[in-house]
Parts: sequence; structure tokens; C-alpha cells
Amino acid sequence: MTTNLTPPAESVVGRFLRYVRIDTQSREGADRTPSTDGQWALVQLLADELRALGAADVVVNEHCTVYAAIPANSPHTATTPVLGFLAHVDTSPAVSGAGVNPVIHRDYRGGDIPLPGDPAQVIRVDQHPVLEQMVGDDIITTDGTTLLGSDDKAGVAAIMTMVDMLAHNPQVQHGRIAVAFTPDEEIGSGIERFDVTRFGAGVAYTVDGGALGEINDETFSARLATLTFHGKSAHPGTAKGVMVNSIRALADFLNRLPGELQPEATDGRVGFMHPYAGTADVETSSLKVILRDFDTTGLDEKERLLRTLAEDTARAWPGLTVSVEVKQQYLNMHKVLKDHPQLTEYAFEAARRAGVEPYRKPIRGGTDGSKLTFRGLPCPNLYTGGHEFHSKLEFNSRVGLEKTTETLVHLAAIFAERQAAA
Ligand SMILES: [Zn+2]
Repeated sequence: MTTNLTPPAESVVGRFLRYVRIDTQSREGADRTPSTDGQWALVQLLADELRALGAADVVVNEHCTVYAAIPANSPHTATTPVLGFLAHVDTSPAVSGAGVNPVIHRDYRGGDIPLPGDPAQVIRVDQHPVLEQMVGDDIITTDGTTLLGSDDKAGVAAIMTMVDMLAHNPQVQHGRIAVAFTPDEEIGSGIERFDVTRFGAGVAYTVDGGALGEINDETFSARLATLTFHGKSAHPGTAKGVMVNSIRALADFLNRLPGELQPEATDGRVGFMHPYAGTADVETSSLKVILRDFDTTGLDEKERLLRTLAEDTARAWPGLTVSVEVKQQYLNMHKVLKDHPQLTEYAFEAARRAGVEPYRKPIRGGTDGSKLTFRGLPCPNLYTGGHEFHSKLEFNSRVGLEKTTETLVHLAAIFAERQAAA
């Protein structure tokens, strides 16, 4: 830290190692929030720890979210906006989060990192050149049989350690800070029940990003198209001139989708059209296609193309009708955040004070913050130091966790400083 700060009562690494051992995997298709009971265990633990650290207004609500606040200690609090930090407690349904056995590779000397529990799992330097910058760091991996859960327990541990640091360093002046830990981010449903009013922040950050330095104030805009192909079933023995097989029409439609617009062929700022699920029966078949683009005009073009291809398919199959229903999923948060440039600017300044070189990167997906931004809580996303999310090769490091925590402490101070200067 730039000033001599008293260290936290528990290190961010210590917290992280405790939290990742709690199985909080969320589950697709559950009809309740949280989708799994394991998430309660971590949320209750965090509430207890927040109380022990002296946080105010600690509440766990019925939807498995913990809200808390750190009262202001700065004389300029009347005008300092309440600053919020959020992280999610669940881990991806894609890879098991049960029995996570974190392994610390102390004083990393370079080279590939084989994971001890599965010889097939090796973190390779050629695939992760960031490892070359991590020599001397303590790299944290799993044993190769589960995910690590750095997404997002790194964010959880960093926020908790920030609370700890602020409690032990009253000389760091800050306004009121709101913190929240939420469930079911990985299945997209937890944030729907988030109570922005109860949270009480005017601006916030999700701490749910990747490599050190990466700050996200831009996401995809997203729509979901559901196509239904209505054909006509008949006994195949007497089908001539009668049957209209909607399965063949569905396949015909798939072939019409442009190959250059599939996710496998796009990156950077190029959007895509991605059929990802469907059902097939002679009478009726259906297909779900997600549309993604950073610009609304690009998204409109993709929707128009999809509708045109659906009409072309219907014309090619006499007797077939195709219905298309399109729903908005989320919007590029930059539409709102461009009017709050100080959020990105302060995050850059906080990163630099922590000795990290910041950079902007658009996210080829959505975040809880993109939804919150459109509900009136501007909310960019900050790095956590983590890599290879949702996989057995997921890793983070001591430096990653410590620099993320330092960034949050600096950010709290910067908000109060800028207010004092104003
Ligand atoms: Zn995450």
C-alpha cells in the first residue's frame, strides 16, 4: 500500500482458501433461489464474519443475499455517494465444486503446472502466457479434479478483506460503503431478486472479472430468439403429399445461418448468432438462438437476418409455418456508463495506486452489473486476478488476490478524496 497500513486480521489468501472449500455450485433449471442449499452455508458464514468485523446493518434475506454496510468515517460523507461492492457466492454448474482441494504452488519458478490429482490436467505456459509474469508469486490451483471457484470467491474474499482492512485502518477516510454477496449468478437468476433500494448504493462495482488490470465497462447487448417450426405429422406409410416434416425444415434453417457469424468464428468486437438448444418432432420442432452484439444496430441486423432466413425456410417447405419470438436479455452497460466516466476513471486510479496497469476490455457476455446498471445502479466490473474460469485449470495467485484487495481499499479512499476536493 502507498501508506503504511495495518494488515488485515486474516489475509485475503486465508479467506479465499476457506471459502473455496464450501460447495456452492449453482444448478441450472431449479425453480427457486438459491438453486442449491450449499450457497446458504457461505452466505451465513459471510454474515457472521461481517458482524465480527463491525459491519452495520448486516441482513441475510430470504433469497440468500447478504447485505451490509460500513459507516462513513470521512467528514465529507453528506455528499459522497454510497459506494457499493458486489460478488457472487455460487460457482459454475459446468464443473464440480464439491471437495475443492486448493493447492498452493509457492514461489513459482516458471514452466507448466501439472495438477496432482489428474495427470491430464496441466496449466501450460503456451496457453497461459500470463504465467511468465507470475514468477515468484504463489499460484493457487485445484488438484485437477474440480474447479477452483475463484469465480467468484476471489471477489468475495477481496471484498471481505477490504472490510477487514478498513476496520483496522481508521486513518483511511471513506464514505458509506455498501457490500452484498449474491447467489446464482452463473445461472443468471440471482440478480433478478436483488433489492437495489435495500442495498442503498448510488454507484457500485461487481468484483467478478479476470486478469489483474482488466476493467469492464462494456458488455454485449443480448437477445434470445425462439423459433417454432409447425409441420404436419402423418403415418410414414401413407405420408406422400401429406406429411410436412418440421425436423427437415429445422435442419434447412440451420444450414442457412451464416458460418462467419457463429461464436466459433468470432472474437473481439464481432457479435454472433448461436443456436444452442432445440427439440425435434415431425409435427413441431423448436430452436433457441442467442443473438449478441455490442451495438444495437448490429443486434437489429442479426434479428432481421434471422427473421428473413425463417421466412425463406417457410417458403421452401410448402405447408410449413415458422413463428419467431425474440426477447431482450440484457443491454450493453456502456450505454449508461458512458454518462458516468468517473467510475472507470476512479477504478483506473485505484489500480495504479495498487501497482497494477489498468486497461478496458469489453466483455463478450453479460454481468450482474449490466442488469443492475439498467435498474439504476451504474456498475462496472473489476478484476479479481483469476484465470480459466469454469474449468479444472482455473487459477489465481497470492498477488492476484492481494492486488485486488488493495484496489478496493484505494477505490474507497479515492471516492472520498474526490468528493473532498470537489
Ligand atoms: Zn463470476
